[in-house]
Amino acid sequence: MKQKRTQIQITCPQCQIFYSKDLSEYKRNERLERTSYCSISCRSKANPPQTLPENRYDIKDHRGNKRDKFTPYRYILHCTKNSNRKQSSIKVEDVKNQWDKQNGLCIYTGLPMFLPEYNTGKTSPFKTASIDRIDSSLPYTKDNIQIILRAINFLKSSESHEDTVAFLDSMVENMGFEPMSCSTTST
Ligand SMILES: [Zn+2]
Repeated sequence: MKQKRTQIQITCPQCQIFYSKDLSEYKRNERLERTSYCSISCRSKANPPQTLPENRYDIKDHRGNKRDKFTPYRYILHCTKNSNRKQSSIKVEDVKNQWDKQNGLCIYTGLPMFLPEYNTGKTSPFKTASIDRIDSSLPYTKDNIQIILRAINFLKSSESHEDTVAFLDSMVENMGFEPMSCSTTST
């Protein structure tokens, strides 16, 4: 059987009704410096909900979430910083300038690239842009960067620009022939 809790007789400051309330609840409100009311309706009449727009929290206002013309270039810049944080002096403006200079085409393949704004894990390295150092022995500076397909960046690794071009040339040249047969049987 439920035990009836000790009650207190008080006046509601909103509707002035004399009513009884659980003493424990009343004391709890007192401890939390909250006024006790007879009902939820009186409490909400006494404390209208805050609707001031400046009090509203909007996640879009977070610094990192504000979109601007540089937003699409931030993620690939972030990727270079992860790999070479100390050596990088390039800014997002430099990435955009380089992209505009290249018209969004890969330096080596001439293929159109696409800029991921975050890592979805679904972006093909044959289509995704990445920042490359033209001379891999030098740091990321605005005169030493180019934007190339991620697949070509993997392939280039730390080789020179010239060696990469020569490598790709031999690949293109070879692809003009019939593919080599894997069969070892001879007639
Ligand atoms: Zn009331």
